[in-house]
Amino acid sequence: MSHHPPTDRPDPFARFRFGGFECTVVSDGILQLGPAPVTFPGADPAEVDALLADHHLPLDAVRLDENVLVVDTGDALVQFDSGVGTDPALGRGFFGPGTGHVVPAMRSAGIDPADIDVLAITHTHPDHVWGLTDPDGAPLYPNATVAVSRADFDHWTDLSRVATAPNQHMADHYTGAHKNLLPYHEAGRLRWVDDGDEVVPGVTAIATPGHSPGHLVYRVSSEGESMLVWGDLCHHQVLLLQHPEWAFQFDWDGPAATAQRWRIYQLAHEGRDAVLAYHFPFPGLGHLRREGGGYAWVPQELPRRPVGAARATPAVPHDGLAAAVGQR
Ligand SMILES: [Zn+2]
Repeated sequence: MSHHPPTDRPDPFARFRFGGFECTVVSDGILQLGPAPVTFPGADPAEVDALLADHHLPLDAVRLDENVLVVDTGDALVQFDSGVGTDPALGRGFFGPGTGHVVPAMRSAGIDPADIDVLAITHTHPDHVWGLTDPDGAPLYPNATVAVSRADFDHWTDLSRVATAPNQHMADHYTGAHKNLLPYHEAGRLRWVDDGDEVVPGVTAIATPGHSPGHLVYRVSSEGESMLVWGDLCHHQVLLLQHPEWAFQFDWDGPAATAQRWRIYQLAHEGRDAVLAYHFPFPGLGHLRREGGGYAWVPQELPRRPVGAARATPAVPHDGLAAAVGQR
């Protein structure tokens, strides 16, 4: 963490219509990780560098966006994950000032955290749940129910694991999850979600244990359109789509995570589903196509949003992605 990206983001949010739903992607910022051969421990370093160079990506460090999706179904406002938060002892302290921006980004998009009805959590790692509370532990989403897998909650809030954590950051994984989830749990506002469960009409969970014991992908469906909200199924738009077996540094069960990648990639490709990828370049919306033995990313273009544009004056007509692209 020797340097951090600028805190000024060119796109504070992106908005698009999906079926009958209005979707907004806000950025929590960018995570600066180590060189790719460290971040993807199963990779051949020479092949990684060649692939990155071929795609005009930096070789010295892996940069991961944090794309937070908010879906307005008409009946409910559903947010997927929460970013790293602003606690100087946890997320903001570890990941730097280029992160922890989700709440101001939401406000610039005209969304009040108090209006969020459901937080659909993919898993309880730092960059996904440490933004649930403020540095003092007060819930930042005062009216939301938090939908989360029991397996992830039980594993990552178990403070008995702190003593055997290999380093301070891994110890913080447990204390940070505990700090951010317990206030909601004690208020009776946690809801356990498992494979096939409907979070709200149009949002369904798909159990994908591997990266984390209770990792969930969510399917958003409306008017015949389908989008898979990936969470940490895949961390890189080139390396892990081409080589799902290269794995990610923080995968809880590497072989299981790899198997889930192959399974969900195939599902998305065969169904021609849209994908919202948390860690892909902002806003992380796109599709998959086959390439070689793996897959390649086809980003969906969206119109640029002027800084400070209010939610009440959408520039995107409410008649689908094709119309949004056609506006450019
Ligand atoms: Zn993540």
